[in-house]
Amino acid sequence: MILQLKNGEANLQISEDSQLLLDGQGRLMGFYEGTKLIRRSYDNRWLIGSRPARGERQQRHTTHKKLEGDELDLAIHRARETLRQASSSGPRLQIVGSDEAQNSQGMDLLRSALKWQRADFEGDGKIFTDLVGRIPVLPPDRYRSLYVLISQGCRYNRCLFCELYRDRDFRNLDLSEVIQQIEGLRGFFGKAFRTRTSVFLGDASGLSQSQENLVAILNELRERLPSSTLRDGIHTFMDVFMTDPRPLQEMKELHQNGLKRIYIGLESAAPSVLSFYKKPNSMGVLRDEIFKAREAGISCALMVLAGGSGRRLQSEHIDHTVRFLNRLQLGKSDRIFLSPLVLPEGTGFRAEAKKHNLEILNPNEIEEEIRALRTGLSSCGAKVSHYELRNFLYR
Ligand code: SF4
Repeated sequence: MILQLKNGEANLQISEDSQLLLDGQGRLMGFYEGTKLIRRSYDNRWLIGSRPARGERQQRHTTHKKLEGDELDLAIHRARETLRQASSSGPRLQIVGSDEAQNSQGMDLLRSALKWQRADFEGDGKIFTDLVGRIPVLPPDRYRSLYVLISQGCRYNRCLFCELYRDRDFRNLDLSEVIQQIEGLRGFFGKAFRTRTSVFLGDASGLSQSQENLVAILNELRERLPSSTLRDGIHTFMDVFMTDPRPLQEMKELHQNGLKRIYIGLESAAPSVLSFYKKPNSMGVLRDEIFKAREAGISCALMVLAGGSGRRLQSEHIDHTVRFLNRLQLGKSDRIFLSPLVLPEGTGFRAEAKKHNLEILNPNEIEEEIRALRTGLSSCGAKVSHYELRNFLYR
């Protein structure tokens, strides 16, 4: 067995195709055996799925299912057995990437991981959700951000394809609540804090805070967090159609105080598709806000939904979206994320699609749409990547 320590995390390699991951506090965060992959989030959701066998390609639309009940008990039991074997392996356990002091740190980590029972994971998840709530999503380049909740939920909350924040009411948090949360998070992550190298201001409408509050929050983050946590900057979503445009000067002030990138749900630039989605984006306002943000030094990431417009509106969606994005003069620091539709259960999407005579596309058709978007955006200036919502876990 090999225990590898890196940035406060430990990776225990049991065999060529079996590994177990612990965070810096000894929390079990994931393990795989063969093609079976189990992952845990800080809000204590467990997912089981598969990873490709050696030499095979990962299928993007593989859905990972919830792991619960007896199945979860069994998985925790197996992981604990492995940890027990590793901690009593003596010289047969090789600790790599470490000096002598870290060797003992590695053993300490294994011992503390052994103490975790199912109830401990549940208690730990509750501490986390009491601090920031359940985290439904993060952009793919921000999975390892420190999530700081400054504005709960989504102010709009009515897009037909989205049910991410339907379980919560919208409200802006007070500065004192945010400060309490930052301190709580420092305690919660403990030695695992080293894995967080940027901050994400959640939930979906972070910029709805007043300028004065936002600047105060950014100041508190700088004062209270180690520079390593702020190394890759501060980020947030922007719901352009709900936010009163900020003057350029205010955007510059946010940038000077650490705001590095804003993430905007474009979804589509085709009016017919946006109307079906019930998303009141205006392309003119969006364009102005993007140009303003970039002038202020803040980079932009735009999310495009793939597969939601059905076959009937698909070419309109692709044409308008590619044309709009290509005219934005995006640069190297900007991003475009292509996100396949995850059919929501509780928004009436299927019934509305039927009413509009739109067929639901299958995963292969959605992949084709993504390929067409990629081709159209090949010289847009920004990096274009995939954004998979369905298997997201905050870990
Ligand atoms: S897509 Fe964005 S704006 Fe629309 S409901 Fe979801 S979070 Fe809110």
